[in-house]
Amino acid sequence: MIIGITGNSGTGKTSICKALEKNKINGKTPFVIDADRVVKKMSAIGEEYYNQIISTFGKEVLQENQELNRAKLAGLVFVNEEKRELLNQITYKYVAEEIKKQAKESKCNFVIIDAPLLIESKLNKICDVVISVIADKETKLKRIIERDIITEKTALDRLNAQKEDEFYIKNSNLVIVNNEIDLEKQAKEIIELLNSNILYNKEIVIIQNGDLKILQFKKLIEYKNLVHAFTLKPFDFGSNITYKEKEQEVKDNYKEVCNLLNVDFENIVRPYQTHTKNVVALTGEHGIFSTELENVDGLITDKTNKSLSLVFADCTPIYLFDKNKNVIAAIHSGWEGTLKQIIKGAVNKMIKEFSCNPKDIICAIGPTIRKCHFEVDEDVKDRFCNMFKDICKEEQFVRKAENKQKYYIDTVYLNKQMLIDSGIPEQNIIDSNICTVCNNKILHSYRVEKENSGRSTAIISLK
Ligand SMILES: [Zn+2]
Repeated sequence: MIIGITGNSGTGKTSICKALEKNKINGKTPFVIDADRVVKKMSAIGEEYYNQIISTFGKEVLQENQELNRAKLAGLVFVNEEKRELLNQITYKYVAEEIKKQAKESKCNFVIIDAPLLIESKLNKICDVVISVIADKETKLKRIIERDIITEKTALDRLNAQKEDEFYIKNSNLVIVNNEIDLEKQAKEIIELLNSNILYNKEIVIIQNGDLKILQFKKLIEYKNLVHAFTLKPFDFGSNITYKEKEQEVKDNYKEVCNLLNVDFENIVRPYQTHTKNVVALTGEHGIFSTELENVDGLITDKTNKSLSLVFADCTPIYLFDKNKNVIAAIHSGWEGTLKQIIKGAVNKMIKEFSCNPKDIICAIGPTIRKCHFEVDEDVKDRFCNMFKDICKEEQFVRKAENKQKYYIDTVYLNKQMLIDSGIPEQNIIDSNICTVCNNKILHSYRVEKENSGRSTAIISLK
């Protein structure tokens, strides 16, 4: 496996690489390749890469002693996008080959590439996982000035020429906010994430800031007026029952998520979920568990001062967003909600009450128990067979468990079918493909933890 680590200067990505190097991944020490060092090696006089650079950019990028003047080359491409692209292409061609060669020779199962321009040079294409490290501007500035002993102005110029956080979020599987973190702990958590299967879906990104980890859908990040998240362990948002005991902790957790998403904690709206098919379009003022929101499992709004929050431990979270009408919804579709077709009711309400066009609605399906683990008794299976015509003839939906009267059913598949039946184009449906039971070290799962299970929250909000 090849893991690429990248980020602006001053983010501390090399420190994270070093912390990772001290750990074993699947019993083996990872092998770290410093991409800058590879480029330096290939830039030596007479190397193929060296020759290619001169024939492309001319002798003006050479020093008097014929060595490559890297500062001059950097300056040249900095002001010219076309040349920058050309350099990235050449670098990719040679560096990728060399890295692949070194990775193979290392005979390590885990290879880490430390590369500041991993994404720009397209080296991310040879990585199974891309990890970006970001940090506040002040933190980066302080680190660069201390490390390179340069003036604040020089450091600022360098930082201003680098990519924004958004670029890294869009192009990574995992983004780590490294203002001040415990590197050893961080390394262990990265390994835990690598050992789960949540980093291998290109549609999603995990953002970690200290103990807080959230999952986001890249398709939804594209919309600047929309924010959303699905929280991972250890953050707990409490069930209807445990909320009271943990009220302060839950509120603090909300505040931390709101802080990361840059939304106001006061705007959180959360219903009292009871596996109904009731979906409410918000009109008045609501907070957490307001009385009008009892027995409600879906929320819709077109207002910017409402952050919809529902909680989950195995049930299916579905986010809906009409990109033209700017209407959002959050739906809690457990197996009972799926049976009651809550998702169909939600889309209908968006169409009837907000004049949404289903063709403009984007849906995102979060982590949930999936067919691999969703074992049910015959009576539950039969209720689905009775409700949805012919569904039990479909192998995709149901599989009999070996040696017992139990069945594995795919409620995500049913929800997708209902979304399509409601007129939502299949390509608008994004699935995280993550099973909460398979990844129960990272995600809350009621099946695994029973009454002790915490809750994740799915939050969606218009700006
Ligand atoms: Zn599973």
